[in-house]
Amino acid sequence: MTKIEKISPQSLAEAKRIILSGGVVGIPTETVYGLGGNAFDDGAVKKIFEVKGRPNDNPLIAHIHLDYDLSKIIDYDTPCAKKLREAFLPGPLTLVYPSTNKVSPFVSCGLNTLAVRVPSHDGAQAFLREVDVPVVAPSANLSKHVSPTSALHVYEDFAGKIPLILDGGECEGGIESTVCDVTGDIPIILRPGLITKEMIEQVCGACEVYAPVLKAGDRAKSPGMMYKHYSPRCQTALFEKGALSNAKSRVREELDKGRKVAVLCENLLLKEFVGIDAQMLDLGSSPDEMATNLYKLLRQSEKIADVLVAIEPSAQGGVMEGVMNRLKKACLSTDINAKS
Ligand code: AMP
Ligand code: MG
Repeated sequence: MTKIEKISPQSLAEAKRIILSGGVVGIPTETVYGLGGNAFDDGAVKKIFEVKGRPNDNPLIAHIHLDYDLSKIIDYDTPCAKKLREAFLPGPLTLVYPSTNKVSPFVSCGLNTLAVRVPSHDGAQAFLREVDVPVVAPSANLSKHVSPTSALHVYEDFAGKIPLILDGGECEGGIESTVCDVTGDIPIILRPGLITKEMIEQVCGACEVYAPVLKAGDRAKSPGMMYKHYSPRCQTALFEKGALSNAKSRVREELDKGRKVAVLCENLLLKEFVGIDAQMLDLGSSPDEMATNLYKLLRQSEKIADVLVAIEPSAQGGVMEGVMNRLKKACLSTDINAKS
């Protein structure tokens, strides 16, 4: 049986018992919910990969509380990492440090680095203080499915498979943390998120974005970025912003076939679909709102529609890099990038 418990001294004590005996617990953060396990415990780490169905070359992020001694889990610090911690932590930024043999070898899947994050969510901090070990916590969704932004989403994917989900309310951030490699002189963004390239540049003077062109047999710097991900369990079609009329035609075609259609678009475009019998999913207006709403709406789409027609929002850069990164992967499953 899987319990959902609000965060309280009792539920935190129960979470601690589970984590320190090698189990896994669903935990809230300000980005998405995580599936947490003790980073020092091989069995717990393996269990996380098993229960998620996560490919075993996709490394995990270790979560620590604000006062946890970082030197217990990394080999050495870098000046650029120090500046980024001061500017953005606690918060939705994961830093990749040089690290070998400090936590379970299964955490980093053979890489000589460790990704570390200090979440700002009060419930996550309380939980991490209670257990006082680094907790690996990938997003608490079955591999490839949409990431969870509420305790109920975690329940949908893991009911009966994990003993406890700590309920810390709906996640405000909505998309996963920015992952940034700080092992060299210049920080490199491996996964875009709410802490943007521009924000990192302001602090460190420079910032690169990892965009690999891989040949067969090459290993990506951040393997998780190579997979189809975040996908609702319905057919999907993503249209570029200039292709509104194509998107509308597609909606009409699907409706004519008797299929249920959901349309995911920014608030500004809702009026374009008045009189068309599709379920409208309003992403919102600002980039931050769109990040907050994205996964909730993708989860909704699979419940109400046979096909999701998504339209690229007009805003670009900053947080939209993270939003579009997720939306493109979510729509990789079937037909994509219908151009104008
Ligand atoms: P998730 O846990 O589902 O949010 O995914 C974690 C992301 O962090 C994936 O894209 C991983 O590839 C990436 N990641 C975790 N550890 C490392 C690492 N040591 N080096 C590079 N990327 C990492
Ligand atoms: Mg994930």
